[in-house]
Amino acid sequence: MSIRPNPPERSLTELSRQGLRDLLLSWGEPRYRADQLYRWLFQRGVRDVEQMTDLSKSLRRHLRENEYTIGRVTLEKVRESIDGTRKLQFRLADGAAIESVLIPMPGGLFTQCLSSQVGCAMDCQFCYTGTLGLSRHLTSGEMIDQVVRAADGLPPGSRIDHIVYMGMGEPLHNFDAVVASLGVICDPDGCGYSHKRVTISTSGLVPQIDKLGRVAPVNLAISLNASNDEVRNQIMPVNKRWNIDALIEAVRRYPLPPRRKLTFEYVLLGGVNDTDDDARRLVKLLVGLPARINIIPWNPFEGTRFLRPADERVRSFQRILLDRGLTATVRVTKGLDIDAACGQLGERPSA
Ligand code: SAH
Ligand code: SF4
Repeated sequence: MSIRPNPPERSLTELSRQGLRDLLLSWGEPRYRADQLYRWLFQRGVRDVEQMTDLSKSLRRHLRENEYTIGRVTLEKVRESIDGTRKLQFRLADGAAIESVLIPMPGGLFTQCLSSQVGCAMDCQFCYTGTLGLSRHLTSGEMIDQVVRAADGLPPGSRIDHIVYMGMGEPLHNFDAVVASLGVICDPDGCGYSHKRVTISTSGLVPQIDKLGRVAPVNLAISLNASNDEVRNQIMPVNKRWNIDALIEAVRRYPLPPRRKLTFEYVLLGGVNDTDDDARRLVKLLVGLPARINIIPWNPFEGTRFLRPADERVRSFQRILLDRGLTATVRVTKGLDIDAACGQLGERPSA
């Protein structure tokens, strides 16, 4: 599969805080000017240099003359589900489409689910995004822009409280750009989310989990989805490279700050990984870990062989985990009517 290169356009939102300082310094501008510009871009989300009123006229002219753009993500469409979930459809400068989902939480808060790639290379059998293959990685600016632009369209009185890298793509496969995006998203002068309010979800790229622990102490979610290697090999090809034991060892090494929990996602596939024995094996795997298990009854899409398990099966699976003292919640399916639920993201041919 050929991976298209990132679009070459120059965009200010691709630059880190230091990158902006270096650029402005090369134009003879003082460092505090770069910091002003940085706050306009990421804290306030302003997209027109003419509105950045405290920048000098000469700097604004310089930005225009050098053809710097601000962001390259256009919010094309917002679809709202009957349950309040909003799916944001963005168009990128090269025409590619990505999606981000705002999930309503109590108290006017939203969790935002970000995409990290156009499509995904990991080929998990139960995931719609996986069927698309990988078109390309997103740039850091394209991830940050999803956050900045989403804040524009929120209902009055509400705000985004938590960012999860759980949309299209495997964030740890696009490691450098994801870490660069965290640099702005978690900066108080940038988007202002503390690391505590950010979660990265991964299918299990072990070396990158270790690296992430060293550079950005965000919350970690692991898409486990099976209780033994035999089944995981079948539904998640990544398991052939790093199996369940290797993954759990990496998770045990992850430098989790005190009182925080790891999340394990477990997509429940009828007749594949949903037996009581699976639940009991899962307990054994996770014993002693500060783990929260998120059971996700599989969300269907056309053209697959999987089945959503019956509610009774889901409850029985959960009960075994709870009885053994684990924290286990069943994720309420949200946004199903607008294809915004887990694993349903990606442009449909007819969309
Ligand atoms: N690539 C990352 C993050 C995006 S996938 C990862 O795999 O963790 C987000 C979550 O959706 C994962 O936990 C995945 O297991 C789950 N998922 C994928 N397809 C699904 C489907 N059809 N129904 C329910 N959950 C699904
Ligand atoms: Fe990619 Fe995650 Fe879907 Fe697997 S579950 S194909 S890693 S997006």
